[in-house]
Amino acid sequence: MSDCGICLEPLKKPVSIPCGHIHCEKCLRSHIINGKDALASTCPTCRQAFHIATPDLAVVPEKYHKFIQPSIRQVYIDVPSISKLTKEVGSLKTQIKELKRKTKDLDTLCETYEHQLAICDQKERDWKLKVENLLFDNGELRQECESLKSSICMSQKFLSSWRPPFIYAVAMARTPHLPQEVAWTWRGRRRLS
Ligand SMILES: [Zn+2]
Ligand SMILES: [Zn+2]
Repeated sequence: MSDCGICLEPLKKPVSIPCGHIHCEKCLRSHIINGKDALASTCPTCRQAFHIATPDLAVVPEKYHKFIQPSIRQVYIDVPSISKLTKEVGSLKTQIKELKRKTKDLDTLCETYEHQLAICDQKERDWKLKVENLLFDNGELRQECESLKSSICMSQKFLSSWRPPFIYAVAMARTPHLPQEVAWTWRGRRRLS
């Protein structure tokens, strides 16, 4: 609850005046009594003037009675609802604090994940590069292999068609029962020794 503008304490029996300001009934009464004017007074907070004399309704036509309002009116402040609202505000503040803490935790978690993701991306790039290099090497090796195969094939063709007349004839003469391949091996040994 707000404080009285005169005694600066929590309002006791609050009353309002036409300007809208609220004070304790007792404080406002003593302010009016201490004033110089018996018919009017000024708001202790904003200095706006207001009348304190009430016209005698007996001499005022009845149709105007509803327009005649007393300057000082009792104010009823719903204290329980204020305390309820204060409780709710406290609860919401606690919730906000908790949510802020959770947001901070999530931010930290996000930063960690982002860092790990960056490491994974880098590793993925490295592995892709390695695979590309291996594929390139593999292609080169295949080409080399094909070229070697064709040269071996050519050599084999050449060797199968080539017959050294003299040595072959001698080998075949010495071991006529040996198959051709063994004869060739034997010939090779003989040439080396
Ligand atoms: Zn007061
Ligand atoms: Zn005022």
